[in-house]
Amino acid sequence: MTNSVVIAIDGTAACGKGTLARRLARHYGFAHLDSGALYRLVALGVIEAMRDPSNEADALRAAGAIDLTRAGDPKIRSDVVGQASSKVAAIPAVRAALLQFQRDFARTPPGNSLGAVIDGRDIGTVIAPDAPAKLFVDARPDVRARRRQMELEGMGISRSEADLVAELTARDAADKSRPVSPLKQAPDADLLDTSDLGIDAAFAAALALVSPKVAKVLQSALKDRHRG
Ligand code: C5P
Repeated sequence: MTNSVVIAIDGTAACGKGTLARRLARHYGFAHLDSGALYRLVALGVIEAMRDPSNEADALRAAGAIDLTRAGDPKIRSDVVGQASSKVAAIPAVRAALLQFQRDFARTPPGNSLGAVIDGRDIGTVIAPDAPAKLFVDARPDVRARRRQMELEGMGISRSEADLVAELTARDAADKSRPVSPLKQAPDADLLDTSDLGIDAAFAAALALVSPKVAKVLQSALKDRHRG
């Protein structure tokens, strides 16, 4: 039994949690898992097979054939895959198929890391409910839509802010209302609203919230490591 230090980061669509998770992982030298990429890979598999993301058998087949080497494929970042990922994520059997991988990552992070930063929707509530540090990240829909719009502009894609607000809020509503592992703030998670914060200020705020909690458990994780 390892004693890894888990930082769980949950939040709404395009709230910047991925950027925060990557920076926290770099700061602590921890492994990072973007759990949303798992659902996006399943969705991509369904779309490429020209099947229906809401159909359990189709989604489960794609989950069984998930290709983690494609986690960096820009195709999984498209809005079409984003919408489809929310559909496959609402299917309990798909979530069950992805559960063990995420729990193993939390318990035994790759690269012999002392800890893991995992971002998603149910990390603090389901995947790692005992995580010592948990953040719930959010920002106003208009702010998230503008950030996403700028990101898309960088890829040469033009989308209206109103359309993006509609897409993000529809995806949040679906993620919050599904019966299985809905998006919600864990009772022991700290809320971080990044609406009025730039990237550096958001990172500083995140670090201020998690660092006392991480410091508490890092010592014992290090001792375990030396004993082990
Ligand atoms: O975080 P990202 O926007 O990439 O996630 C895509 C979708 O995957 C979410 O809208 C959500 O439906 C699903 N997801 C989830 N549980 C997670 C991570 C993502 O249900 N832990």
